[in-house]
Amino acid sequence: MKSFRKELWFEVPARRAFINITPQVSKCLKESGIKEGLVLVNAMHITASVFINDDESGLHHDYDVWLEKLAPHEPVSMYRHNVGEDNADAHMKRQIMGREVVVAVTDGKLDFGTWEQIFYGEFDGRRRKRALVKIIGE
Ligand code: ZN
Repeated sequence: MKSFRKELWFEVPARRAFINITPQVSKCLKESGIKEGLVLVNAMHITASVFINDDESGLHHDYDVWLEKLAPHEPVSMYRHNVGEDNADAHMKRQIMGREVVVAVTDGKLDFGTWEQIFYGEFDGRRRKRALVKIIGE
C-alpha cells in the first residue's frame, strides 16, 4: 500500500470565505501516483471546515447567511468562549460544516457524484491556516 501526505496552506484576507480546493487535491492525487484508494482531506484548525458541495456562488452566499443566523459573529460578548478572543462563532460554524471529507479514488481520479467539489471553509481568517491531504491505496 502507498501513502501520501501533504498540507495545503491558506491565508484568507477576510474573516470568512469558501475556497474550492478540488484542483489542489487532484494535484496531490496525481503526485501520489495512487490509482485505487481513498483521499482524506481535513481542516487542521477548529475554526475552519472541509466539506463537499456545489461550486455555486448563490449557494455559498446562502450558507454564509444561514451560518450567521445560527451563530452570529456579533455581539461577541454573548459567547462565554470569547474571553480574550472573538471567534466562538467560528468554532460553531466549523462544527456545522464539518471537519473532513473522504473521497474514493477510482482509476486515478476523485470519484465524485454530480457537481461535487471540495471546499475549505474559513470562519476565522486573516492568518495562516492549513488542511491535511492524506491519500492511501495502490
Ligand atoms: Zn476560539
